[in-house]
Amino acid sequence: MIIIQQQANIERMHEPAVIMADLEKWARLAYKSEEKIGPGTAEKMIRNLLTKKPIPHESPIEHHVMTARFITCRGMTHEMVRHRLASYTQESTRYCNYSKGKFGSQITVIEPHGIKNHQFRYNEWKEAMADAERHYFNLINMGEKPQIARGALTIDLKTEIIMTCNLRQWMHVFRLRTDSAAHPQMQELMGMLYDQVSAKLPVIFPPKYIA
Ligand SMILES: Cc1cc2nc3c(=O)[nH]c(=O)nc-3n(C[C@H](O)[C@H](O)[C@H](O)COP(=O)(O)OP(=O)(O)OC[C@H]3O[C@@H](n4cnc5c(N)ncnc54)[C@H](O)[C@@H]3O)c2cc1C
Repeated sequence: MIIIQQQANIERMHEPAVIMADLEKWARLAYKSEEKIGPGTAEKMIRNLLTKKPIPHESPIEHHVMTARFITCRGMTHEMVRHRLASYTQESTRYCNYSKGKFGSQITVIEPHGIKNHQFRYNEWKEAMADAERHYFNLINMGEKPQIARGALTIDLKTEIIMTCNLRQWMHVFRLRTDSAAHPQMQELMGMLYDQVSAKLPVIFPPKYIA
């Protein structure tokens, strides 16, 4: 059994300058004010749209998408896939047979948030993971298919998922999933991605995001 930390990364997104220029151009179409485009106007325009009172004008940012790659546990991805305005592709426990050499003939699990701070709980959790692995491999060795043997696996099993959304939906996902009401492991995961996106597009995703 391998124990790893979860990760979140931007998989694909256009260059920030391209995104900002496109969004300004397309937003200005609404006002037919394209002649005002110049150095620094994109930032001002997009900031004004997103802070417009009484209602922000967020739909123009739907025209650009970002794809992210998460390496996390299945518990987290159960929550993530509840977001309907997104596309997903996920590692399959039906088709992956973790007894094969390419998986190191062992399962990989994600260390739960904060558990290492409590040695006894951490040891108990590791035993539970080892039990799950043993039962899974026993079933496989008895001739069961991975899609059935997976029932013995754990919700902390490592999984990879690709998630694509437009930038407006990412704003919504970050708002919900970095809030203090979200699972601490989810806050950590989405916070990791948020920091990367914020470094590239601070006008849309301001640093030190406040939900
Ligand atoms: C802290 C937290 C706790 C949660 N606890 C639970 C729980 O205990 N049990 C549980 O089942 N779920 C729970 N959820 C999941 C939650 O109920 C939502 O399913 C999930 O957050 C997806 O977000 P969303 O509903 O905003 O929709 P998304 O799918 O992200 O869609 C974005 C927006 O599009 C609109 N939209 C999408 N589909 C529709 C539709 N069919 N009709 C109308 N408008 C639509 C809405 O405005 C929505 O906000 C929890 C989520 C969070 C963040």
